[in-house]
Amino acid sequence: MKLGWIDLIKAKKRFGQNFLKDESVLQKIIQAMPNDNLKVVEIGPGLGDLTKRLLQKCEKITAFEIDLELCGYLQKRFSDEIEQKQLELVCDDILKQWSQDAPLVDENYHLVANLPYYIATNLILKALDDKKCQTIIVMIQKEVALKFSSRAGEKNFSALSILADSVAYTETLFDVSSECFEPAPKVTSAVLKLTKFSNYLDEDIEKALFENQKELNDFKSFLKVAFSAPRKTLMKNLGQIVKKDDLIKYFEDLEIEAKLRPHQLKSDKYHLLFKKLK
Ligand code: SAM
Repeated sequence: MKLGWIDLIKAKKRFGQNFLKDESVLQKIIQAMPNDNLKVVEIGPGLGDLTKRLLQKCEKITAFEIDLELCGYLQKRFSDEIEQKQLELVCDDILKQWSQDAPLVDENYHLVANLPYYIATNLILKALDDKKCQTIIVMIQKEVALKFSSRAGEKNFSALSILADSVAYTETLFDVSSECFEPAPKVTSAVLKLTKFSNYLDEDIEKALFENQKELNDFKSFLKVAFSAPRKTLMKNLGQIVKKDDLIKYFEDLEIEAKLRPHQLKSDKYHLLFKKLK
């Protein structure tokens, strides 16, 4: 049997390479996309199976791939689409390309990807902060998807859920078993969809939620303390940064029960509490 180039490419663990091979899952990801003409950004096109389906649906795609061996393969596989400028392939580390406070690309876009799991949380947080990113549809570890999409009262409700549902409608669409990948990951995966609220994308209303990046960073630090010991009460956790008497008063003002645990309080109350502590 004659071996092609693709047969010689070995998945590299250090880049989190688990290639999605299941046709029905690929199709379900495409069906979950909004029907508009916005640019699509893919992080980690890998062998290009998702990219191929994205190219059938979208007018313009920018894809970032760190692995130079895969980049060489993708340049051949999609040479026509690259020449016609339907596909822009950036062969670099996404973390170098996506600097702190700047958008990843300079027009509005949807992020659609089977993410490298070792940096998935970090990338979703960046996409949530990026004003140009309108929708995030990503395959990630199921456990992480639930952290982003749980509602108050559910056991996985976390600081990530609050950050996500402050700016987006959040849902875990479906689970994906490890046999759908080559090589199979050790964990179950799931597809997470975050649809940003249109008012969050509006510059003025955004200012009402967080006046600036510093305030958003402060909110993240506040959530870190709030969830520092998930089994303790929220009041106990916040006692690390606020005087007990003040806390009792703020909780009373906002009608928050003193014995609530961090996962039991809704996001809007977290925002109100944060405003009081500022
Ligand atoms: N999209 C392909 C698929 O669905 O089969 C591959 C997904 S695989 C889980 C993750 C991909 O992200 C790999 O192609 C890997 O090389 C790439 N990757 C890993 N770290 C990266 C980084 N820092 N910047 C850009 N791409 C990265």
